[in-house]
Amino acid sequence: MLVVSGPSGSGKSSLMAKMLNQIDNVYFSISTTTRERRDGEEEGKNYFYITKEEFEKDIQEGLFLEWAKVHDNYYGTSLKPILKALSDDKLVVFDIDVQGHKIAREKFGHLITSVFITTKNQKVLEQRLLKRGTDSKETIQKRLNNAITEMHRIDEYDYLLVNDDFNLALEQLCAIAKSAKCKTSLIDSKKFLNYWVGV
Ligand code: 5GP
Repeated sequence: MLVVSGPSGSGKSSLMAKMLNQIDNVYFSISTTTRERRDGEEEGKNYFYITKEEFEKDIQEGLFLEWAKVHDNYYGTSLKPILKALSDDKLVVFDIDVQGHKIAREKFGHLITSVFITTKNQKVLEQRLLKRGTDSKETIQKRLNNAITEMHRIDEYDYLLVNDDFNLALEQLCAIAKSAKCKTSLIDSKKFLNYWVGV
């Protein structure tokens, strides 16, 4: 599992989209949210969009691997498709916030490699959010405040990626994704050794 977090506006989504095209045998976890659909976003591609009532019912029914309230909206990862992708031996990639990362680590710690993506500094993040033009001033302020809170938790992650030079950041993200499947904690070392000596 590759968990990617980072403030909105860090360039995280663009980096992940390019990375997903360059890595084989990968499954991107599409989250469910109660937030409004932005212009250009598509149902089932960016998110599954449901109402607050539907989301709360899904929580009660235990359908989420993790869920969190981010900027006053619910976001969550459905468990079923993740388990299927894992049993198909795919690298499962998540775009989730720091709260989701913590829960995923508690549940699947040995399976997880995590990356926190951010900008060079706060000013650049603010400029990117303003330039994107998809959010109101109030929402941008909320997102900036949330970014500062999230930045206090970067040491919970395996890697910190500063997206200043996009191509370099992409190269680094691809390298991390490719290496994620080589973690010794993912394998049964005794089984591997038995196989290795038994040939
Ligand atoms: P946005 O509204 O900009 O698409 O996403 C806002 C934040 O929600 C981002 O930090 C993103 O990583 C996080 N997020 C998206 N999906 C999920 C999810 O399923 N679970 C959690 N915990 N966070 C999510």
